[in-house]
Amino acid sequence: MLQNFSSIKSLHSTSPVEQTHTVKGWIKSLRNSKKFSFMVLNDGSSHKDLQIVVDATLENYAAIAALGLHSSVEVTGLVVGSLGKGQSIEMQAKSITIVGTIPEDYPLQKKETSLEFLRENAHLRGRTQLFSAVFRIRHTLSKATHDFFHERGYFYLHTPIITSSDGEGAGEMFRVSTLKPENPPMVSGKVDYSKDYFARETFLNVTGQLEGECYAMALGKIYTFGPTFRAENSNTARHLSEFWMIEPEVAFADLDDVADLGRDYIQFMMKRALEFNRDELEFLAGKNNNPDLIATLEHVASSPFARVTYTEVIDILKKAQAAGHKFEFAAPDWGGDLATEHERYMCEIHFKKPTIVTDYPKEIKAFYMKQNPDGKTVRCMDILVPGVGEIIGGSQREEDYDKLTTRMKEMGLDPAGYWWYTDLRRFGTTPHAGFGLGFERAVMYVTGMTNIRDVIAFPRTPKNAEF
Ligand code: ATP
Ligand code: MN
Repeated sequence: MLQNFSSIKSLHSTSPVEQTHTVKGWIKSLRNSKKFSFMVLNDGSSHKDLQIVVDATLENYAAIAALGLHSSVEVTGLVVGSLGKGQSIEMQAKSITIVGTIPEDYPLQKKETSLEFLRENAHLRGRTQLFSAVFRIRHTLSKATHDFFHERGYFYLHTPIITSSDGEGAGEMFRVSTLKPENPPMVSGKVDYSKDYFARETFLNVTGQLEGECYAMALGKIYTFGPTFRAENSNTARHLSEFWMIEPEVAFADLDDVADLGRDYIQFMMKRALEFNRDELEFLAGKNNNPDLIATLEHVASSPFARVTYTEVIDILKKAQAAGHKFEFAAPDWGGDLATEHERYMCEIHFKKPTIVTDYPKEIKAFYMKQNPDGKTVRCMDILVPGVGEIIGGSQREEDYDKLTTRMKEMGLDPAGYWWYTDLRRFGTTPHAGFGLGFERAVMYVTGMTNIRDVIAFPRTPKNAEF
């Protein structure tokens, strides 16, 4: 039986007219009339469904006609050319086996399909056209990530998920411990982590960068693509507590090299989605009332990004404010961090395209970023994109041992705790640079979905770890 099994995607791409095939899938709609039924079937392999004509003379016709939406069936039938609009083939069923039925209380039968309702049914939402489209695109972008870096000579590095260093102060961390919370060992009034599993405090990683740098100094060009954890206390539409990050790290590279790399990578993902997920993108454009989605992707995939320094951004924001633009948070003075609305103003209103902002004040950036000769700014960049805001954060790293350790001390970090990281600057140091791209933000950008909870299968956010 399996030998003759066809995916709906393969049937659509080969259009094997006048041949008998067996397909297995779920019923998306069923219209019954006296003499036959139109069954719309999908097996998840493609956005396009397969229409099946079910003749009332089939022996189990009564049972089939009574099936609820998302019942699973196996259908053997003849593939024929279709006269119906929007499809080139359909199937005339010869036999149908009912595999799994749907009871009355199936949640997705309800009319209500708000995104909020679907989040509460995250175990089922992948069955909707919307979510299956998003998740097929997510797959495309994931595959595109590996292809992009592999084709450019990068090695995929798996960095640890459990870490004892606090990353960079990139975010609040989740503790990893096997101590009994109700009765932990104590020493002078504090929990004694020397008695914990790793004989020290450990956490889930907020980045793989520091470990990535070690292997960039060995393999030249590496990238990570793994889960990342931040106990963000902000409940926004762009932050998850568990997300996936891609972090390339390149030896003998400077900031311009990785700014170009980030742009090329984003454009490569877009081109792949346009190539492999046209049907999904067209559907999302309609569903999300986003008619320009495809035209915008095509344009951005082949156009230069804007590029400005942080100092120029402050100037532009101040001028916009003086000209009457109302920001919820006033445009910051030089030295202050940019709020999301400021980032979005730059890429959505000022430049109307992805924008690379470089050279932020050192006070608001991590210790490892290379200092500029001005003594005030560091060689870093954020890439901001319309609809999402920051999608990439990166920098050239400080490769000089003395400058790095001096900056660590200035920022209240003990270099001894990072001995293996500072060793990289003692043993064959080189200029190097890298960035982190939040994978879910890339999926948001390409799909036009506006809440990050809707582009990851089972989102983890504050007060939410169901499923
Ligand atoms: P933000 O200012 O948006 O919180 P960040 O400055 O903390 O971002 P980085 O530490 O530079 O971000 O991390 C690199 C990338 O990881 C970001 O550009 C973003 O795309 C992504 N990212 C960061 N935090 C989260 C999160 N909580 N959920 C999803 N993606 C995230
Ligand atoms: Mn953050």
